[in-house]
Amino acid sequence: MNTKNPYSTIGLPLEIERLNELAYNLWFSWNDEAKALFSLIDPKRWEQTLHNPVRLLLETDSEVWSALSKDGPFLEQYERVCQQWDAYLSDTTWFQKSYPEHLQHRIAYFSAEFGFHESLQIYSGGLGILAGDHCKSASDLGIPLVGVGLLYKRGYFMQKINQDGQQQAEQIVYDFNHLPILPVSNNNGEQLVITISIADRTVHLRIWQARIGRNSVYLLDSDVEGNSPWDRELTAQLYGGDQDIRIAQELLLGMGGVKALRALELPTAVYHINEGHAAFQAFERIREQLENGVPFHIALEVIRSSSIFTTHTPVPAGHDAFTQSMVEYYCSSLLNRWNDHRHEFLQLGMDEAKQLFNMTHLALNTAALRNGVSKLHGEVSRDMFRSFHNNIGVQEVPIHHITNGVHMPTWLAPELKELYSRFLPGRWLEDQTSGNLWKSLELIPAESLWETHVVLKERMIRFARSNLLEQFTRNGQPAEIIEGVHSYLSARALTIGFARRFATYKRANLIFSDLDRLDRLVNDPERPVQFLFAGKAHPADQPGQDMIRDIYRVSQMNRFRGKIILLENYDMNMARHLVQGVDVWLNNPRRPYEASGTSGQKAAMNGVINFSILDGWWEEGYNGTNGWSIEGNNEADWHTQELENTESIYRQLEQEIVPLYYNEGKLPTQWVDRMKQSIQSLAPVYNTDRMVMDYTNKAYMPSLKRTLQFLDNDYDLVTKVADYKRFIISNWHHVRFIEIRDDVNGQSAEFAAKASNDKTQGLKEVTATLSFGPIWYKDTVVEIVYYEQRGEDWYPVVIQMEPSRELDNRVVQFKAVIASHLQHLTHYTIRIRPISPSFVSSFELPLVTTT
Ligand SMILES: *Cc1c(COP(=O)(O)O)cnc(C)c1O
Repeated sequence: MNTKNPYSTIGLPLEIERLNELAYNLWFSWNDEAKALFSLIDPKRWEQTLHNPVRLLLETDSEVWSALSKDGPFLEQYERVCQQWDAYLSDTTWFQKSYPEHLQHRIAYFSAEFGFHESLQIYSGGLGILAGDHCKSASDLGIPLVGVGLLYKRGYFMQKINQDGQQQAEQIVYDFNHLPILPVSNNNGEQLVITISIADRTVHLRIWQARIGRNSVYLLDSDVEGNSPWDRELTAQLYGGDQDIRIAQELLLGMGGVKALRALELPTAVYHINEGHAAFQAFERIREQLENGVPFHIALEVIRSSSIFTTHTPVPAGHDAFTQSMVEYYCSSLLNRWNDHRHEFLQLGMDEAKQLFNMTHLALNTAALRNGVSKLHGEVSRDMFRSFHNNIGVQEVPIHHITNGVHMPTWLAPELKELYSRFLPGRWLEDQTSGNLWKSLELIPAESLWETHVVLKERMIRFARSNLLEQFTRNGQPAEIIEGVHSYLSARALTIGFARRFATYKRANLIFSDLDRLDRLVNDPERPVQFLFAGKAHPADQPGQDMIRDIYRVSQMNRFRGKIILLENYDMNMARHLVQGVDVWLNNPRRPYEASGTSGQKAAMNGVINFSILDGWWEEGYNGTNGWSIEGNNEADWHTQELENTESIYRQLEQEIVPLYYNEGKLPTQWVDRMKQSIQSLAPVYNTDRMVMDYTNKAYMPSLKRTLQFLDNDYDLVTKVADYKRFIISNWHHVRFIEIRDDVNGQSAEFAAKASNDKTQGLKEVTATLSFGPIWYKDTVVEIVYYEQRGEDWYPVVIQMEPSRELDNRVVQFKAVIASHLQHLTHYTIRIRPISPSFVSSFELPLVTTT
């Protein structure tokens, strides 16, 4: 396949021809020299185009190009960027060194949104930014990853805030030819089009390529001639439509995405789905196997072994679910073609309790490896999906966690990169996951770190003022108010930032519960505090928009004017300014609703100190000295938690944060110490290099190896595993307990003989006799389970029982020795479950029989 660059004939002079190549690779978004190069072409236009290099190239006149091709300093910068780009591509990568044998095995990464850069608005919030950062680190590390997503003609939306503080969602129709993406064409030079069946129709999809360093992300677009008007709108908007649009979009992403990979001739070994939106990939891949004559149960095992699912939503209501009839309608082509398997397909997503087809259930049923996005979120997910796993012990639910991170080259301020480069050893940015290296941060003089921070803070303030000027001018505010904006915000004042999607659980207006107390903080003549807020609320989320109005209302009160600020149209550009330029990053969600959160990680690497609820990543990142935690009793009802959290916020601001910040004159050395502690402890861990390495080591490579084994020798192993599972499932009802004996007096002769030995004091022997029917007892394990308290939590203790005697009729006796005070049913239970060396987890089959 070709990716035709329609602008390769844009007529750039030979001397600077490679600007095309640089503009069409989002590598520029994490290379400061490349951004500086584009800015040199036309600084104003670079800002006006929202840093879109393609529009910049298209809109620049030919005279400018002739002049630039003779401009010494520009050419020097151009050469420097080209050299860095070439060096980047030729570097030996972590993956090449770690897994040289797997260079040819591709990993597909599916996501409904991708946040790479403000010039490509196909993200709504953290989930998309995470996907973008994931792809960037995958490129940096040399992981052979290919992304799959949708290309939204109207993106998410542009947010404007009117004179009443009402959010207005403005739709912009993007011209794809003006974005840093390329159409993919077939070998005849025509644009590549794939088709997918949705309900009774065929939908055509074009494919666009976003180049992300070494890798690509392919984006599907249904706005194609020949599609019905309704279908042309399917990819119009991210999270824009009703349930019908939603399921259609998810089919385009999941099933269309797999088809696109095939049409692009990109053989793929492992499929990672970022949230349940893309779970329909399993349907398409099972269909492919069926077409090849593979039986359904074997096809399912093939798909499971090669799928990885990352869940992001700690609230049950947040998981997409559709009625069964919707799924039957929209998947009718697939289900009619494979009518014999209709029930099996539908069963993969059925939430029996709610009688809905749930995308998370589909993902859990079709991915062998599943994870949450922080330690705490892992726990929450195990708890939430315990009943899905036959109510086994919560710690044993096979859902793990890989904590999110952020892409350091994207989010770290250029000035800080320069400063760190002077003091951190070697190729520190490439080796950022080495905690040791960050010890050298001590060497940075407090003055230097502080001066750099102030430079970033001043830039952020200029940015905020210009955002407000535009907002107020458009809203027709009086001249004196508009004039006043120039003196809004002071670089000297302690500055607190809060920016993220305005979802209600994030409680953006928590700090407003006591305006007089807030007033005293903000208007302290010696030690003032100022706040910046920004974020979009989903257009259908009324409570979220009420929160915006509330923040706006406070920002317009005379006593807070110019000191509590609400910026409009939060995007990646604004996020960079804020996480680099404030002093404190505030996050006060309702615990445990913040699965991870990543904006605080961006802040941390920039020396901005986190002040947050111990939720998501901060629960594991906070070490007592690298920031502050907002306290409250997690067990209390929401209202009480809210009161306690608010009190904790005010109290710490008044007694700790403000005093520390204003402790010393111009150079707050203790504050700078805290900044350093925060950077040192958090930067090496909460970055996407560490995260993508974790995914590679713990998920991609194990999944790849298992899949290769499964498929080897003509599906030999996977056939055995699938047949074995089917046999076990249909015969498990034969397995039953016949007798349990644990009375201290009724011990066996051998045990009684040993009982004189001191070592067996206080111990007893437990015997369990089970009948197995046709199942071989060695395909199972019999275990004693009891709970032990460690700290505040209870942990399961599992003791394996050993077969001691085979009786008639497939009856086997098992024994184990435990403490004699433990009583059956009062303290412990005995369970039996099937095992296999080919299982990924102990509870791969939802079968366990317990006494
Ligand atoms: C990082 C980022 C987010 C995620 O913020 P959280 O605080 O983790 O919710 C959302 N939107 C944008 C534009 C971001 O850059």
